[in-house]
Parts: sequence; structure tokens; C-alpha cells
Amino acid sequence: MSATASAAVPTVKLLIGGQWVESKTTVWRDVVNPATQDVLARVPFATADELDAAVASAQAAFKTWRKTSIGVRARIFLKYQQLIREHMKELAAILTSEQGKTLPDAEGDIFRGLEVVEHAANIGTLQMGEIANNVATGVDTYTLLQPLGVCAGITPFNFPAMIPLWMFPMAIACGNTFVLKPSEQDPLVTCRLVELALEAGIPAGVLNVVHGGEDIVNGICDHADIKAVSFVGSTKVGTHVYNRATLAGKRAQCMMGAKNHAVVMPDANKEQTLNNLVGAAFGAAGQRCMAASTAVLVGEARNWIPDLVSKSRTLKVNAGMEPGTDVGPVVSCAALSRVNGLIERGVAEGARLVLDGRNPQVPGYEKGNFVGPTIFAGVKPGMSIYDQEIFGPVLIIVETDTLDEAIELINRNPNGNGTAIFTQSGAAARKFQEDIDVGQVGINVPIPVPVPLFSFTGSRGSKLGDLGPYGKQVILFYTQTKTITQRWFDDSTLSVGVNTTISL
Ligand code: NAD
Repeated sequence: MSATASAAVPTVKLLIGGQWVESKTTVWRDVVNPATQDVLARVPFATADELDAAVASAQAAFKTWRKTSIGVRARIFLKYQQLIREHMKELAAILTSEQGKTLPDAEGDIFRGLEVVEHAANIGTLQMGEIANNVATGVDTYTLLQPLGVCAGITPFNFPAMIPLWMFPMAIACGNTFVLKPSEQDPLVTCRLVELALEAGIPAGVLNVVHGGEDIVNGICDHADIKAVSFVGSTKVGTHVYNRATLAGKRAQCMMGAKNHAVVMPDANKEQTLNNLVGAAFGAAGQRCMAASTAVLVGEARNWIPDLVSKSRTLKVNAGMEPGTDVGPVVSCAALSRVNGLIERGVAEGARLVLDGRNPQVPGYEKGNFVGPTIFAGVKPGMSIYDQEIFGPVLIIVETDTLDEAIELINRNPNGNGTAIFTQSGAAARKFQEDIDVGQVGINVPIPVPVPLFSFTGSRGSKLGDLGPYGKQVILFYTQTKTITQRWFDDSTLSVGVNTTISL
């Protein structure tokens, strides 16, 4: 971080009241291309006054936006999804340049967010209340799902398109206004998506953007005029956000860290399973919250390690922009040294390093934050590589004799984000589905991120707050249920005094 913005590099703007404005802060951070270390832009750490201005503009816009008709709201998101499609290549190129993932992966990141935008266009049927006719004679009870007011979103670096799109489209479609705080590591694609949202017709003040880190996040948690906070990121920060925001009387939903186990039964389709494992462990350089970072090989499946290693060796490590790349760089130099440090600890703590991806040679990108596919066998709970989320292209292998042991291991882990089982046995799959305490469960599906008809979820250390992002749950998160009980008198039911003709 530095005290001034250099003139040569563009600055990232704040969006307040429909205007992109330069921050008056003295604290800036570089947005860096992780394959080259080129500085792409400088992002401000916005001041408390700027946050106040963003919230005030959202609050003012709420007065009219909350009453905007369903058709108007729906059509904005119909237009928005079209604009995202038309700008897919441009958005993917921005995303790859600041985050590092491959271009096809970047398109996937945007596409999974686009699906939520499409879902937001159905807001008319999603936000319907319920009615019970004649709860007493001549009396009906019904519910309205009304918007809350100003909502805020705080997003992580690893899906800078999808995760902001999990948040503001659904919140705004429900009639709320929004203040978004993107990751300070890669805010450029998020800001481009916000520009397209304005172009689609989101009115001034309905969507606002502030930038920064700890201070601005704390400011959001404390702000009296923000009603709800959506957070996605690490367990440490998410737990802090949940505690601080709920203490200040807000609704909060925090989707957090992971250690996802993929259980491989010996009866699984070997070729398919190994291909899936390699993709799910090393895709996006392992920086997915749903990465299958731990393989649990049950019984004879432990003999598949050599084949898993040879498949992983074939992956091409290169800049995300280069065609044919399988594994791009990790997001920052700090992330690279954390991942390399954990690999060293794995070796020191006695795990078997069966594939060492450290220091790969990437011609033309010598300064990039690269680490190639790395595999440890013989891993046990208590080792740092098991206990911590590595968030890099490192797959650890644990072996068990039975499915019961595998389930017990997974349920003992503090995280419960995603898991998968590979098997051809319906009975084993059903047992797994019933007994596992994890939010997203894949059966022969390595990364079971739910489509937006459903909600993302999580168990134990992976989620705080009962309602998840997108799907049905988020409608309840972003609205207040109001219950109305009504009766209308006609002459025949009129009476005077305490003995009314209608009682409940
Ligand atoms: P992070 O927790 O470091 O950052 C998330 C957000 O919090 C950012 O906007 C950041 O500016 C802010 N922040 C950082 N430090 C803070 C502090 N001390 N106080 C207040 N705010 C702070 O997470 P990250 O490194 O950007 O993202 C990776 C993590 O996110 C991984 O743990 C991954 O598993 C998790 N993740 C979870 C999901 C999910 O749905 N469960 C999805 C994606 C990522």
C-alpha cells in the first residue's frame, strides 16, 4: 500500500449516487497482474465519509426503488444478462489479467454469475407472498415480502464476477438498494460488471461501490443505515463480520472457508474419477472455495495414486491468457509464498510429496506467481496441510479402509462447504448423502455448486447465518415478511359492542 496514486496508472473509482468518483483517500493499493507483476490500476481504501455518502445515496434511492413495479425490475435484469453475454470476452480478459485464472475459467466465473442475473429476471414469481382465505369467516391472512432497505456485499478475490453477481442482482431485484465492497485484489472486472448494470437501467443510487479492506468492512458492519450484510471470504474474516454486523442489529449471511474432501470408492469408474479429481483439485490453481483439495481413497482405491500423479503431471502451467493453459498463477506473491510455505511444512511434518510443483519454469512469465500441481500422500489430521485451507494447486491424499471411516473423518473437519463421492454403488452414495454433514454434496460430481434455482449453503465453519446466497433462501434474506390479516365489512356482518360476529 502507498500514500499516493501514481499519475501513470489508472485509478479505480467509487460509485456514489450514479457517478464514478475519485476517492479522496491517502491510502492506495496496486492491482497487479499475477502472471507478470504489471500494475494494472490503483485501488483506493475509501474513507468513512465516502462510505457514508454511498449509504446515504442508497438510502435516498430506496424511497422510490422499493415501489418500482415488478415488470420494470425484471426487464432491467433481462437487459443486464444480455449485456453480460455481449461483453463476455472483454470481461473474461479483464478478469484473467487481474486474477490469473485461465480465459475459459474466467468465462465460467462470469457465466455462473450470469445465471443468477437470469434468475433475478424472474423476480415476479420469486417474491410472491402466501394467502390463506377465510382463516375466520370473512377474514383472510396474507404475507408480503418487502425489501429491507440498504444492503451491503463484501466479496473475495477468487470469483470476482460470480460472487458480486450472487449478491447485488437478487438484492436489487427484491427492491433493495446496495453498497458493494469488491475484493481489493481484483476489483476491475467487478467494476466493469457494475458499469454494465448501470447501462442495463439500474437507476442512480440503487447500486453503489466502495473499495478498501478491514476499515471499510468494519464501517459497513457498524453502519446504522445498512440493514443486511452478505459476505463471502475466509472463515476468520467472515466470523468477525458475522459477529460485528449482527451485534449492530443487521441480518448477516457469511459464506466462508473450506477443506473439501472427495471420497473415492474402489468401485468408482477409475478414468472418469481421476479426470474429475485432477480438474477439481488443480483448476483455477486450486483457488476455488469448492476445490476438491483432499482426496480420501477408500480401500483398494489407494492403488490409484501413481495414475493420479501421471495425469496431474500432464497439466500445463502458464499464464491464464495463453491458450491451452490448465493452471494459471496464484493471485499474489503473498499467496505464492503461503502455498510454498505450506508445501515445505507438509514435507517437514512427514507427508509424502509424490508430485512437487514448486518453481515451475514458465518461459516469458518468469515473474509470475506460479506453482504447479502438487500432491501429498500419507496425509493425516494434525498436519498443517490437512488442518489449513491451502488455497493453491495442492492435492492431499488421505487413505481409509471403509466408507464409514471416510464419513467420520469429513464430519470431524471444522469446515463443511463441499464434498463428493465417486462410486457406482447407489447404497454407498445414499449412505453418504444421508450421513455427511456438509453443505454441497456431489455424487460422481466433483464440484457440486448448485444452480440458482437452489441456494448455496454450508455447514459448520463454512457458513454463518441460516439463509444462503441466491435461490429461494436469498429472497427471504433480502426481504422482511409482513403478515396482514384483513376483513371487510358489509352490512350483513356489522355489529356493535364487544360481541362481534367475527372472531379469530
Ligand atoms: P478474505 O476473507 O481475505 O477477504 C474477503 C473480503 O474481506 C475482502 O473483500 C477483503 O477486503 C475483506 N477483508 C480482508 N481482511 C479483512 C479484515 N481483517 N477485516 C475485515 N475485512 C477484511 O478472503 P479471500 O482471500 O479474498 O478469499 C478466499 C477465501 O474465501 C477462501 O477461504 C475461500 O474458501 C473463501 N470463499 C468461500 C466461498 C463460499 O461460498 N463458501 C466462496 C468463495 C471463496
